[in-house]
Amino acid sequence: KDQSDNFLKHVKEGDYALIHGDIVYDTYNKEVSLMLKSLELIQENIREDNEPNKRIELHLHTQMSAMDGVSHTKDLIQRAIDWGHEAITITDHAVVQAFPDAMDMGKEIKIIYGVEAYMINDKKEIVNGNLEGRKFDDFVVLDIETTGLSPKNNKITEIGAIKIINGEIAESYSQLINPGVVIPELIVKLTGITDEMVAEKPNISEVLPSFKEFIGDSVLVAHNATFDMGFIRENFKAINVSIDNPVLDTLELSRAVFPRLKSHKLNLIAKHLKVDLLNHHRAVDDALATANILLKILEMVQDKKFQNLSELNTLKSSAEITKGDMYHTIILAKNQSGLKDLYKLISDSHINYFHRKPRMPKSIITKLRKNLLIGSACEAGELYKAIIRNKPSSEINEIVSFYDYLEIQPLGNNEHLIRDGIVKNREELELINRRIYDLGKRHNKLVVATGDVHFLDKEDEIYRRILMSGQKFSDADLQPPLYFRTTSEMLDEFSYLGEEIAEEVVILNTIKINNIIEECIPIPKGTFPPKIEGADEELRTISEEMAINKYGNPLPEIVRTRLERELDSIIKNGYAVMYIIAQKLVSKSIEDGYLVGSRGSVGSSFAATMSGITEVNPLPPHYICAKCKKTEFFVDGSIASGFDLPDKFCPECGELYVKDGQNIPFEVFLGFEGDKEPDIDLNFAGEYQLKAHKYTEHLFGEGK
Ligand SMILES: [Zn+2]
Ligand SMILES: [Zn+2]
Ligand SMILES: [Zn+2]
Repeated sequence: KDQSDNFLKHVKEGDYALIHGDIVYDTYNKEVSLMLKSLELIQENIREDNEPNKRIELHLHTQMSAMDGVSHTKDLIQRAIDWGHEAITITDHAVVQAFPDAMDMGKEIKIIYGVEAYMINDKKEIVNGNLEGRKFDDFVVLDIETTGLSPKNNKITEIGAIKIINGEIAESYSQLINPGVVIPELIVKLTGITDEMVAEKPNISEVLPSFKEFIGDSVLVAHNATFDMGFIRENFKAINVSIDNPVLDTLELSRAVFPRLKSHKLNLIAKHLKVDLLNHHRAVDDALATANILLKILEMVQDKKFQNLSELNTLKSSAEITKGDMYHTIILAKNQSGLKDLYKLISDSHINYFHRKPRMPKSIITKLRKNLLIGSACEAGELYKAIIRNKPSSEINEIVSFYDYLEIQPLGNNEHLIRDGIVKNREELELINRRIYDLGKRHNKLVVATGDVHFLDKEDEIYRRILMSGQKFSDADLQPPLYFRTTSEMLDEFSYLGEEIAEEVVILNTIKINNIIEECIPIPKGTFPPKIEGADEELRTISEEMAINKYGNPLPEIVRTRLERELDSIIKNGYAVMYIIAQKLVSKSIEDGYLVGSRGSVGSSFAATMSGITEVNPLPPHYICAKCKKTEFFVDGSIASGFDLPDKFCPECGELYVKDGQNIPFEVFLGFEGDKEPDIDLNFAGEYQLKAHKYTEHLFGEGK
C-alpha cells in the first residue's frame, strides 16, 4: 500500500508507463482486470525527423474526415512543427472543417489548404464553343495523322477533311505534310505514312493557310476532337492564328446516343452503323467515315426536332453523371482566390451533386482550376484505377494530362489490392508506382510521395479499426500503415525506386509543390457585415416611430436619451444593417402568422425593442399609460423588473397602467464602447425556417 501510494505521487496524467501483469476476470469487481506485477515509468518514444532536408506531407486526413481519420488536427500539425517540416497539408474527405484549427497554428508552420474530393468524370459536351445562331447547315469533318500523342512535342503528318453542306457531302481536302522529323516505326505501321511519302510534301506552315480557307467558319467535327483540335490549335498558334470555330465531337455524340455500346472507337461505330471505312488511319478516309457517322446519327435523332446545334448537348443525361464512378482527387489552394474557388466547389458538391457522397464534376473543377493544384490522389484516384483496370495508354495519357502533379504512396497503403486479388504481389504494386513516376516524367508533371495520413503514429491504427468495424468493413483489423511518416521512413519506403528518385519524390518535389503555393488564410481578419442601402436611416425611422407611438411625442427624456445613444453607436459602428435584417425577418414571419422568439443579449437593446426584434424592454422599470402616454420611471434600483410593480391606475386619465422595463444596460449587448459585434439570436418556428432562409435570399440575392 505504501509502495503504491508513494509511486502514484510521482505519476501524472500523460505519463508513459511499462506495465507487466496478468489479465484475469476479477470475480469481486465482476470485470476483467489487470493483476499488476510490475510497473515502471518510461520515456515516451516520439519519432523524430532528423534528415537535414525534410519532406512535406501533401495528403493528410484529420478527424474531420468522418468515420475515417482519427487524429486531432492540432496534434498532427504539432508533430510537423516538432519535426521541423516547412509545411503541412490538410486534405480531408470532401470537407474543410479542420481549417479553423489549422489556421490557429498557421503562425508556427505553413498550412497548405486542400481537400480530397470525390470527383466524377462527367461526360464532356458534345458540341463546344460559341454556338449562338448555329444550326445544322455546314460542317467540316476533319482528321489528322501525327508522329505521336503530344500536340506540343509531336508533328502532324496528314490532314484530311470533308465539307458537309445542308446534309450532303460537298467537298474534300487531303494533304500529306512533311513533319521535319523521322516518323517513328510504330506510327508508320499504324498509318502507312512513311518518311518517303512526305519527303517532297510541304511543311505545316505552308499548308495551314489553304486549310484555314477550307474550314472557313464552319462547325468543326472530329472523332475524339480533343486530340485533333489539340494539334490543330497548337499549329495555328505558331503562325498566330486562333481557331474559334465551334467543335462537335462524334465520340461524345456516339456515347450519348449509344450508351450501351462498350467501345466508341471510330472503326467500331462505323461497323455498328454500317458505314464504310476503307483505309482506317489515313486522314481523309477517317474523316469521310466520321462524316457519314455524323450524318447517320443526326438522321437518328431527327425525331427530337432540334433547331439549334446547341440542343445536341441535351442528349446527355445528368442523372447518369451523378451516379457514375467517383475518383479521389486532391485539390490544393494555390492562393487566396484558389481557396475561395475551393469553397465554391465544396458547396456545389454538397448542394448540387450529392449522391451518397458530395461529388465534384470534373468539368466544374476544370472551370475553376486556375488557382488550384490538382493531384492524382490514392489507389481510389482516377489514374491508379485506370492503371489497374489496364486502360489503353491513350486514355491514361488523357487522365494524366488533367493533373498538375501525380501521387505515389507507400506499398502498405495499397496492400488490400493484393488481398482482393486485383494486384498480384508487392512487386506489381512497385511496378504501378514506377509507371506513375514514368508517366510524370513523360508528361512533365511532378511526382510526389504522399502518406495519405489517417492517424499520427503507427500504434494509433487501433482507433481506426474501431471506426472501420463500426462501418462493417470486413478487413477493419488489417489497417494499412496510414501514419504520419518522417523523411527517412518515407525514403526507406521508396528505396526500390533508387536513392536518387526516392529523394526526388519524397523531398525535392514535395518542396517544389510547396513553393508553388502561397500562404492562405481560410478565415480573413475583420468582419464583413452585409449591406442594405439606407439601413441607417431606416432603423432610425422605424424605432423612433415606434417609440413615439408607445411613449408619446415628445419622448420622455429617459427614453429619448437611451434610444439616441443606442442608435448613434449602432450606426457609427455599421451595425444598423444587422438590425434591419432581423427586423425584416421578424416582421415578415409575424405577418405570415408565425411568432418569433429572440434570445440572449439582444433583449438589452432598446433599439431592438423599438424595431420589433424583441419584446424585452430594457428600460428601467416603469408604468406607462397607453391612453395619455403618462410615464413613471423607477431609476433608484428599488424595483428589479417592471413586471413586479403593483397594479396602478393612471392618475391623469384613470386607465390601468401598463407595466414594463427590465432594467438592462445597453452595454450588455454592444459592450462598453458600443462596438462589440452584435449577436441577434432569433428562433423561428420549425416549419417557417425554410421560408425565413428563402426570404433572406430574397433580401440579399441567392448565394450571397
Ligand atoms: Zn480516408
Ligand atoms: Zn483517397
Ligand atoms: Zn486520402
